[in-house]
Amino acid sequence: MKIPMVDLKEQYHSLKEQIDAGIIAAMESSAFILGPNVQAFEQEAAAYLGVKHAIGVGSGTDALHLALLALGIGPGDEVITTPFTFVATAEAIKYVGATPVFVDINPDTFNIDLTCVEAAITDKTRAVIPVHLFGQPVDMPALKTLCDARGLNIVEDCAQSFGAHIDGKQTGSFGDLGAFSFFPSKNLGCYGDGGMVSTNSDELAALVKQYRNHGSKVQYHHSLVGYTSRLDELQAVVLRAKLPHIDSYNANRRRVDQTYKKYLAGTGIKMPHLDDVGLHVFHQYCCLHPERDKILAALRANDIACAIYYPVPLHKQEVFAQDCAGLSLPITESVMSQCFALPVYPELSEDKIQLIADTIKSAL
Ligand SMILES: *Cc1c(COP(=O)(O)O)cnc(C)c1O
Repeated sequence: MKIPMVDLKEQYHSLKEQIDAGIIAAMESSAFILGPNVQAFEQEAAAYLGVKHAIGVGSGTDALHLALLALGIGPGDEVITTPFTFVATAEAIKYVGATPVFVDINPDTFNIDLTCVEAAITDKTRAVIPVHLFGQPVDMPALKTLCDARGLNIVEDCAQSFGAHIDGKQTGSFGDLGAFSFFPSKNLGCYGDGGMVSTNSDELAALVKQYRNHGSKVQYHHSLVGYTSRLDELQAVVLRAKLPHIDSYNANRRRVDQTYKKYLAGTGIKMPHLDDVGLHVFHQYCCLHPERDKILAALRANDIACAIYYPVPLHKQEVFAQDCAGLSLPITESVMSQCFALPVYPELSEDKIQLIADTIKSAL
């Protein structure tokens, strides 16, 4: 039995009629750019997240980039973030000419350590980008208290956390802006690239809308240098079909967590930590073990997909070498030397999880 990291086909088949009909209708309407589905999805997503504005953009990377532009962050500014994330988080900081400042993580949640954030603040610090890594919310009330006291902005990287919340308040509704990705494998994914910015500020929303569309508020009138970064109409059809099911998809990801914990108990593997801060939505299922290579080899030999998220921390990446000369972040480095990811998706069945667990147990 072959088991993939994520199975996108089953979800498509469960919504096929609605998605196919919606795509055909959109093609017949010929309203391809910022059409009615994008507008409706923006309203539906804003209502779901409990924010005033949701703005569909071309990707999660663009969402981060446009959010930083809207805040006016640029050369000479420092932005504090985590080294344990996908490269896009820090690329966006570089796009605007600012300097990424990487700080260490909490060994249990894998999220940015707020004590380290506080220690890294200088008079050049303008913003913090917390990443709700693997779907686990960062302690946003605490981070917000810290940032508000020092006049720092927050852009939440919610690429992996659609639907994760803290006491019912959604990730993406705490910071000045939230950046979401709809890359196909994300918890809420479309069938190509897509992203979204969330905010409660009318002013920031207007700027993001301008930046995504060539800097214009009125067609063919341009007051700033913008980009072509709009959520695609056909992708909005897919997202509208999936959005009503996101809580059920995430509940199933949590079921997968419980099932893994049942079958992998007593193996010495450090399973994902659930804290009492917020609801984890398990975008990825990352565990720790000193002999991870042995585990990965056994899974691969049995046609079970597995991965390392991420093999190299950002402060050790060549692209950030100049920003990070001599920087050592021991907790990040230790976690990343042991972490490995197991398949997780809403439709992953108990018998498959049991097979994965048995394969790991015999390897150890
Ligand atoms: C996927 C991801 C992004 C980038 O999203 P794209 O839509 O692929 O551009 C940014 N940050 C994190 C943490 C991600 O996982």
